Amino acid sequence: MIGLLKGLQATISHMLTRKVTVQYPEERRHLPERSRGLIRLRLRDDGVTPRCISCTFCEQTCPGTAIKVSFKDSKPGQMMTFDAGAGPMLAWVRPGSQTLELGDWLSEGDGPLPPARGSCLAASLIDAETLTPKVLARMASRNGVWLSQTFAVASYYDQLGPGAPGKTEALEYPEEYVTVEGCPPVVLGGFAAGDPADIGAYGAAGGFRATVEQFASMTPAELVEEITISGLRGRGGGGYLTGAKWREALEAEAPRKYVICNASEGDLDSYKDRVILENSPFRVIEGMMAAAWAIGAREGIVYIESRYARAVERLEAAIAAAREEGLLDAPIEGTGFEFSITVLAVPDAYAGGEETALLETIEGRRPMPRVRPPYPSRSGLYGLPTIVENVETLAALPWIMANGAREFQQIGAEHAPGTRLFALSGAVARPGLYEAPMNWSLKKLAEAAGGLTADARAALIGAPGGGFISPGLFDIPLDFDSIAETGGNLSSGTIRVIGDGTCIVQLARECLSWSASQACGKCVPDRLGTRRLLEIVDRICNGKGTEEDLALAQELAHDIADGSLCGLGRGAVRPLLTGLEFFQQEFKDHIGKGGACKSGRCALK
Ligand code: SF4
Repeated sequence: MIGLLKGLQATISHMLTRKVTVQYPEERRHLPERSRGLIRLRLRDDGVTPRCISCTFCEQTCPGTAIKVSFKDSKPGQMMTFDAGAGPMLAWVRPGSQTLELGDWLSEGDGPLPPARGSCLAASLIDAETLTPKVLARMASRNGVWLSQTFAVASYYDQLGPGAPGKTEALEYPEEYVTVEGCPPVVLGGFAAGDPADIGAYGAAGGFRATVEQFASMTPAELVEEITISGLRGRGGGGYLTGAKWREALEAEAPRKYVICNASEGDLDSYKDRVILENSPFRVIEGMMAAAWAIGAREGIVYIESRYARAVERLEAAIAAAREEGLLDAPIEGTGFEFSITVLAVPDAYAGGEETALLETIEGRRPMPRVRPPYPSRSGLYGLPTIVENVETLAALPWIMANGAREFQQIGAEHAPGTRLFALSGAVARPGLYEAPMNWSLKKLAEAAGGLTADARAALIGAPGGGFISPGLFDIPLDFDSIAETGGNLSSGTIRVIGDGTCIVQLARECLSWSASQACGKCVPDRLGTRRLLEIVDRICNGKGTEEDLALAQELAHDIADGSLCGLGRGAVRPLLTGLEFFQQEFKDHIGKGGACKSGRCALK
């Protein structure tokens, strides 16, 4: 009887534990949306000892929950050392013990088994197809771990690694992408009909000519000066002066320098970078070449989310064509300049688009922003001078090279020359992507898009890290500084015009909720502050808020903005703060039992 009860107890306890495997290889699990697919433990200079401080991070990250880390005391002055406890097969070998090439396991034969423990399967980045059930069974048996755990890790395996295929983008962008009348097509002008990777067509339209000619006729310092005169500012969000960044990188003494194209386009409603890369990849390649030549870099990386599958494909085809043409991977005739470009497709994560988090990811770590200074132009990738530029910034460079800095300076606003791509949506007649001078107002831009609808009552610019503006501000210029003065941020240039049917409070909440879910976790104000703030805003949205909640939300939002390590935390609270600034009555309408939402769209009708 006792034996029977014990048996039942064992059966029930197994029924209640979390299942860690699926029917491998027919069924595969999926990693969480925010996974970067990168599980790495780097080694010390001896090439054997892991750089491990027993932080237990790998324990938490392992998809199969197969790692158990225990630590033992190290001698004074040394770091804690790592002792793979209960999960030896999937953990790195202990310092001092025999190392094992994972390849030793990849045999389905019945020969003698290797004597030592293997390294982390997930960190090894071998070909997923090699991990047959028989190989996995062999590994599990030799190392004394559950077969279910090896299968669990293997079932995620094809999603691991920097080039892991993420989900492909199902959404299509609006067909309309036009340069407004009277505006020079600085960025959209390179869009050729036909195959975007046809280098002959791009060259026939003047592509690469001006840039390569400048290499022969100008010094790098002169080109940096030219870009400084143009007044070009980064189109990714920060709006930093491109020429100033280039000068820093040019003046830095270093054995290697890098140019990185940041094509990680995480902002809500934004698709401009994808449109550029899919329709005119050569413009971006040409822009990268110009930047590389100016600062003395020989290597470039395009950092792009793998969900942009079509953009990746066209970019790679364009790079191959440029290589064939002798523009990449070999000295360009008459200039001695040699440059190569690698495309790094990564799973999507909003924080990964922050320029220093991006560098961390390329170096094999989690996408967490670095503390600055030093800035990447002095100390970037692997501690070397690095220029990180947004796709749109790079795509504007060929026009400047061909037409001159002073011509570019004549377009747009005094402190923000040039054109900008605006992704216009919501309460307008023809939503789409519009290229317009940076001194145009929303009113003027909307006229080019067929006009605002009658119920347009607000606009959300640069979501989720930007802010709302009221109709009274529809005629201010859409440049970095004018938008910053409203408390917002132009960010990647998205503009959602809000009609009567949308609740501002709910929309501010959605932006906050999304940003909170994307915090990388490095700093407390963003990681925890946004969650507490969301609880307060949820109370307001649900009709359970008080006047004190409004004041508390405002105070906490300011604290988050002041204390966050990077721009993502500062941006997370902008929709709420600008919403409270321009639409305070709408927030008050949600307060207390008598609260009512005028839009009729949110929970409080
Ligand atoms: S603000 Fe802090 S938690 Fe948020 S993304 Fe930046 S570093 Fe990470």
